[in-house]
Amino acid sequence: MATQRTLSIIKPDAVEQHNIGNILAMIEGAGLSIKAMRMLHLTRPMAEGFYAVHKERPFFGELVEFMTRGPVVVSVLEGDDAIAKYRALMGATNPANADEGTIRKAYAKDVGENAVHGSDGPDTAQTEIRYFFPGYEV
Ligand code: ATP
Ligand code: MG
Repeated sequence: MATQRTLSIIKPDAVEQHNIGNILAMIEGAGLSIKAMRMLHLTRPMAEGFYAVHKERPFFGELVEFMTRGPVVVSVLEGDDAIAKYRALMGATNPANADEGTIRKAYAKDVGENAVHGSDGPDTAQTEIRYFFPGYEV
């Protein structure tokens, strides 16, 4: 598998619960390299734009409310098969279904407040990296 880059967000719930360091340690422990990083408080338009693909879903309002309630840590991760590798490390969207050893098993509360985001494919990875790191060479 070729080297890939993916976008990670440590969501407001995980930041509030002081799990930034624990999650970054799991990321680095899985062999992924952190290539760029920003901590910021998403505005409503930024959160709505980032999750625009979900705007017709019933949970969209709740999702935007959650993602804007406190700061997040956004990073570009790089490694062999990074997109799938990070999705596997994150675990299932609903932590009730997440495997032992995953970030969501350890730190997520429920399907909404689930600690982390990771790009789900090469196209979304490129779009999402550009969204937060304009001008970054993907
Ligand atoms: P993410 O895109 O954040 O990496 P994901 O790809 O595992 O997560 P998606 O289906 O893309 O899951 O949903 C995006 C986010 O929307 C979820 O991570 C979660 O925060 C929220 N979400 C998804 N389903 C629900 C739901 N049924 N109720 C509330 N929030 C939800
Ligand atoms: Mg998703």
